Amino acid sequence: MKKMLLLIIVLALIVGAAFLGFSRDWQTPAIKMAEATYVNQSVVAMVSDNRGLGEVCSYLNGKVDEKSCVNADGATSYKLEVDLSTLADGEYEVCVEVADANLYFPNRVSQCQSYVLDKVPPKAVLESATRYMRRGGGAAVFVSTPEREDNIRLSVGEYKFRFISNAEGTRHFAIFTHPYDVEVSAFKPVVEIEDRAGNIRRLLVDTVTRDRQFKQDTLNIPRSFIERKSLEMLNKEGSGKETFLEMNRTMRVESRARIIAVTSASLSSEPLWTGAFYRNPGAPKAQFAERRTYLLDKEVIDHQTHYGIDIAGLAKMPIKAANNGVVIFAENLGIYGNCVIIDHGGRVFTMYAHLSQIDVAPGTTVAKGQVVGRSGNTGMAGGDHLHFTIYISDVPVEPAEWFDPAWLQTRIDDIYNDFKAEE
Ligand SMILES: [Zn+2]
Repeated sequence: MKKMLLLIIVLALIVGAAFLGFSRDWQTPAIKMAEATYVNQSVVAMVSDNRGLGEVCSYLNGKVDEKSCVNADGATSYKLEVDLSTLADGEYEVCVEVADANLYFPNRVSQCQSYVLDKVPPKAVLESATRYMRRGGGAAVFVSTPEREDNIRLSVGEYKFRFISNAEGTRHFAIFTHPYDVEVSAFKPVVEIEDRAGNIRRLLVDTVTRDRQFKQDTLNIPRSFIERKSLEMLNKEGSGKETFLEMNRTMRVESRARIIAVTSASLSSEPLWTGAFYRNPGAPKAQFAERRTYLLDKEVIDHQTHYGIDIAGLAKMPIKAANNGVVIFAENLGIYGNCVIIDHGGRVFTMYAHLSQIDVAPGTTVAKGQVVGRSGNTGMAGGDHLHFTIYISDVPVEPAEWFDPAWLQTRIDDIYNDFKAEE
């Protein structure tokens, strides 16, 4: 009987040892600490173990005896946030130590990394800005920063405008607009400067804006127009409402997206223009930001906004570049037909649409007054005319301002000259 009991005990020990051996988890937990060197609040570490985590601890500057721990309760992954927000700015070595959930032989692993805590937003001064502007019109701002700042932008709600900076990254200039579709009460241009640690300094630009009414217009669409344009633009037959909307809505959205892509891909450069922008001759037809209602057989079938101005002169008249710049687009562009886009630097662009002929290629440097093509009626154009748009960044603006030398000098160029005048 005694022998039997001994045998059972020995067997139990063997089984127990085998169980412990098999349950031994040879894999150590993984630690992935935040890569950024500069932080403004906390350091995040992701810890994981495919068989479960036990204690997750952290300590600063090698002070193991001051470590604080939480139990991950067997979770396979855990997000540890080491809060530094109550500490003084400076450099810290953050260590994370993790044990897996193994009850008998927990695997431990630790990892340390240095971080710079910086809770102070960048310093910046609003040096000069356009004093007065109009809804749909342009303005400029010059900001200086005592230290190099590379991440600076101007926001008007969802609209973003890029800055150009000097070589030291301490002086910054941007042209922006009060977008035609933003109510005066909602217009708050804000300069945002973000540092390496993620701190953001915000400066409200105190430019005063004025509201304005945009013209309303009603266009009767003849079926013969839909028929002709459907063949030209969609390469198919059609004269009904659906065919018209395929061009006036779907294709319009695609054309707009392409213009945004083309202008935002263009590298920022300093203004290349000299003096007021040239207006091609002819009678003014449609105006900027005109609200259009489209009728087919007296039924309202669509509403759209006209982003440029229409100028009707002689048929196939030579179209000249409004100012010095570089051609960044010269081909067919959906509703705009044959189209040329020129980058004038300073994030200002001009577009010439519905051309019958294009005489320049992307990359061509053009001077003010140089012929870029001939007017026509390609795209959504009933008759021969020039559709002309000025973009600030990718937002269409009132071109009349840019034709006016006094406006350009006092609203844009004076601010730019302040930016260029190094003390
Ligand atoms: Zn037009």
